[in-house]
Order: sequence, then C-alpha cells, then structure tokens
Amino acid sequence: MDKFNTRATIKNTSFLSTFMDRTNDGKKKLSYRTKRWVLIISIHLLFFLSFAIDIQVLEGTLNGSRFLGFHMIDIFSTMQLYLATYQLPINMIIGTVTIILLYLFVGGRSYCAWVCPYGLLSEIGEKIHNTLVNKKIIKSRTFDNRIRHFFWLIFLVLSFTSGYLVFETFNVVGILSRFIAYGWSVALSWVLAVLLIEIFFSRRAWCKYICPIGTTYGYIGRISATRIKWNDNCDHCMVCHDVCFENQVLEITKAKYDKQREEKNITEEFIVGADCTLCGRCIDVCHADALEFDFRLKSLI
Ligand code: SF4
Ligand code: SF4
Repeated sequence: MDKFNTRATIKNTSFLSTFMDRTNDGKKKLSYRTKRWVLIISIHLLFFLSFAIDIQVLEGTLNGSRFLGFHMIDIFSTMQLYLATYQLPINMIIGTVTIILLYLFVGGRSYCAWVCPYGLLSEIGEKIHNTLVNKKIIKSRTFDNRIRHFFWLIFLVLSFTSGYLVFETFNVVGILSRFIAYGWSVALSWVLAVLLIEIFFSRRAWCKYICPIGTTYGYIGRISATRIKWNDNCDHCMVCHDVCFENQVLEITKAKYDKQREEKNITEEFIVGADCTLCGRCIDVCHADALEFDFRLKSLI
C-alpha cells in the first residue's frame, strides 16, 4: 500500500496490499491490520493447543477462559448469567473485574479489532462487500448505529425473563471461539449466514448494529486510556473516513472543525467516540501522519 503516492481508499487498494505499510521515508513496515491478525490467530491457536494437546496456557473460550491460571470472563456473559440465575460465582467476579481493568487500559472496543475471531472474518466479508458495491452489483445499506443499544438491552431483558442466556444461541463470537477450541458444530451455519448478510446486505452489520459484546466494550471505551490521537498535520483528505466502518467517530477530521480549533489554538485531539475499535486502519492509510495511538491517562486523571 503506497499511501504517499495514491490515496489508500478501499477502491484504490487491494486487500493484500493493506497488510504492508510505508513510512514517509519509503521504508516498508507491517500494517496494524497484519499485527491484529497475528494477535487474533495467536490467541485462538493457544485456545486450540491448550485443549488439543493440553498445554494449559489459554484454556476455555472467549466467553470464559483461564490464561496461565488467571480467570478472564466476558463482561456481557457475566451480565446475562446474573440476570438469568441471580448467581455470580467468585471466579466469575474475579474474571470479569480482570477483563474490565484490562480494557480500561488497552481501550474498550480493541476487543473487536484485536481479539474477536469473527472480526477477522468480517474484514474479509467487508472487502467483498465493498468490491460488489464499487462494481454496482449491490447497494450499500446503512442504518442508525444507535440500534445496537436496543439489541444490548433486549438480550439482557431476554436473559432476565427466560432464565437462559438467549444471546449465546446467536453469538457468532462464542460459536466461532468454541469451534476453534473444540471442533465442528452445526451452529457454524449461523456464522456463515451472518457473514453473507454482511457481504450482500450491509457492511459489517453484526459488528456495527447488533453485537452486544462490542457494545459493552464500547461503554468501557468511553473512559479507557488507549485512544487514537489526531493532530493538525491533517489535510482533511477523508481517506480515513473511507476505510473506517465506524467513521462517525472520525468527525474530528472534517475541515468544518478548523475554525473552532484555531480560536482555541488546538493542535491535537483524542478520538473519544465509544465506537472506535482501535483497529489502526485510519493510521495505516493516513498520508499525513496525522493519527497515532496514544494514552490519555493524564487527561483522564
Ligand atoms: S487524518 Fe486527515 S490527512 Fe489523515 S487520512 Fe484522515 S482526513 Fe486524511
Ligand atoms: S477511527 Fe481508526 S482505529 Fe477507530 S475504528 Fe475507525 S479506522 Fe479503526
């Protein structure tokens, strides 16, 4: 991907080229997409090997696991379990608090971009979807992404009223995670159905509009320390908007904000929107080096 000579929009860039990036002095480097994919594959390889040959490094699934003996429990699973059974075993409390503290530090929805196995599949689906849209074979459909808060609430209410973890029947993340650790299941056909909806109907629909796991991590992201930071090297080319499937968080990059910034002499700002997954795609494609990862611990305290 040569973002300095061509705008690295979805249309201008092949999928494979997004795995390599360049510095402005021409050196090649791995893109954040590559780093994320390596991490996701490594995490799930550890799940698989811990079960298959009993290496006991990362046992369980993304719903609940033990990493070198430390319990880690998905926050939304804990909420569902409590509402369904009114019980919270001590290991679940410890595991959930561990995860909350971890994501307060590394960024709420970084789970979606750096851990979730469905996110990786969904990125491939996104590329196919965008290609079909560019060739005018299908239309791009978008909805109000605030609908995700409605799904979040509905799945919790269903746990409370039914006494079951209803969402787990539909949870593509849990289904994939169990498949990787323990093997084939017919529930994978649901994952395929969701992926096909994303390819032919709406870009990243599960992640953007439905998944209550991502929504929960988004709530943590509002006050998490790791964020993307924007600076005024930006020339408002809007390439970052083009590649970001949650581009409502990138309003900050639009030229219309310049006057307010000039008045207040602001040269840097954090992207604080809860929907940002910290995937780093915007950093990968920015030709002006106007975006970077940063910690905002100071400004939080
Ligand atoms: S941050 Fe600014 S310069 Fe960089 S890709 Fe986005 S709009 Fe373009
Ligand atoms: S703003 Fe950047 S890091 Fe956040 S979701 Fe969009 S592309 Fe990814």
